Amino acid sequence: MGERVMRTVRDLRRSNRSLLLRRLYFDGPLSRQDLIDTTTLSAASVSNVIGDLINDGLVAEVGSVGSDGGRPRILLQVDGSRWHAIGVDVGETRVLVELFTLDLAVLARAEYPLPGGCGDVTAVVERIDAGLRGVLKESGIDQASVAGVGVGVPGVVERGGENSGRDGVVVHGQTIGWDAVPLERLLREAGSVRADMPLFIDNGANTLGQAEMWFGAGAGARDAVIALIGSGVGACVVTDGSPYRGTGRSAGEWGHTTVQVGGRACRCGARGCLEAYVGAEAVIERYREAAADATSEGARPQPESEESALAAILAADERGDEAARAVLEETAVYLGVGVANLINLFNPERIALGGWAGLLLGARLLPRVREIAGEYALRHAFATVDLSLCQLGPDAVARGAATLPVAGFLSAASVQGPDVGAIGAPRLNIR
Ligand SMILES: [Zn+2]
Repeated sequence: MGERVMRTVRDLRRSNRSLLLRRLYFDGPLSRQDLIDTTTLSAASVSNVIGDLINDGLVAEVGSVGSDGGRPRILLQVDGSRWHAIGVDVGETRVLVELFTLDLAVLARAEYPLPGGCGDVTAVVERIDAGLRGVLKESGIDQASVAGVGVGVPGVVERGGENSGRDGVVVHGQTIGWDAVPLERLLREAGSVRADMPLFIDNGANTLGQAEMWFGAGAGARDAVIALIGSGVGACVVTDGSPYRGTGRSAGEWGHTTVQVGGRACRCGARGCLEAYVGAEAVIERYREAAADATSEGARPQPESEESALAAILAADERGDEAARAVLEETAVYLGVGVANLINLFNPERIALGGWAGLLLGARLLPRVREIAGEYALRHAFATVDLSLCQLGPDAVARGAATLPVAGFLSAASVQGPDVGAIGAPRLNIR
C-alpha cells in the first residue's frame, strides 16, 4: 500500500515536470504565472516543480517582463545548451548525421554520400557509426550529455517485440533491398551507440513529419499529412495530433498507392505506384526515356547525382525543352492525383510537400498540383485543405530524427539525466 502511494506521488511529480518542461520547450519563454494560468497545476506546484527543474539545469531564468502595477515577471525557458540530441537521416543517396542542442540548433554535421545507394547495410552502418563519432569529436560534446540518437530510415520500422531477442528494432525496406535488417543491434555492435544510450528508429517520412509538426508547416494543425518526396515517396499522416501507424506500423506508404493500373513498374514490385511517377528516380528515368525518344543521339550526358539530374530537368524546362516540359506536367498531374487521394481519404486541414525532391519540384509545380488536386478531390474536403511546401528545408529528416530523443527526454524529464530508456518513437506532436 505504502509503496503504491509512493509510486503515485513519484508518477505525479514526474508528469508535472514533464508537463511544465514541454510547455516551456514549445511555448517558452513563459513566466511562472503563465504556467499557472495555462495548466491545471496550483501556484505551489508550479513553484516547486520549476525550482526543481532549475536546480537540475533543465530550465533557466532568461530575463523578465513588466506586469501591470506589480513586480516584473521572470521569464523561464528550457536550457537547451546543456543537453544534446543526434539525428541521422539514412537517405537513398547519402547518410547525414547532425548533432543538435536540445532546442535543435545544429552544432555539428557529417555527411557521407552512398554512391552505390543505401542497399548495402554494412556500408550504411559504417557511415552512421563514423558520423556519430565525427559529430561528437567536431563539437567536443561529451556523450554523457546526449539525450539520445534518432535515426530516420527509408523503410518500415518494426519495433522490438517480446520475440525480437537481441535484434531490437528491425527495418523492412522493400524498395531498397533491406529484408528485416536488425538495425538497432548493428548500430549497438558498431560501438558508437552505447548500450545505455536511448536509440530511436523511425521511418524518414515520420521523422520529417514530426519536425514539421513541431516547428514547420504542420505547427498548430491536428490533422495533417507531411509528404516526403526524395528518390522514394512516403507520408506521415497525422490524425488528431498523433501519427496514424496501422497495425504493422507501415501506414503512410503513400508512394505505393496505385495511380495507374498496369502502369510503370515500381521498385516495390507492383505497377503504377505513385512513386513510379513522382519519385526523383522515376522523374529522372522518365525524362531520359523522353529525351532519348526526342533526339537521335539517344540519352544525353548524365549528371552525377539525382539532385543535379533533377535540377537539370527543371533547368531544361526553363530553356523550353519539350521533353522536360512534358515530363514535369505529367509529374504535376500524378502528384495532384496523389494529393487528391490524401484529401479524400483523410480530410486533413493541411498537406505539406517536403523532402529534397518535393521541395525542388514543388517550387515549380505547386500551383499546377493544387489545380489537379482540385479536379480530382471531393469539393468539400478540398475547400478546407491548405496545400503548401514544407518549411524546414531538405535536411529536415535528420532534424526530425533528433526530435525523437528530445520527445523522450521531455516526456521522461528524468532527474538524473537523459535516462529515457525505452526504444521506439514517442507520441508525435506532444504539445
Ligand atoms: Zn510501389
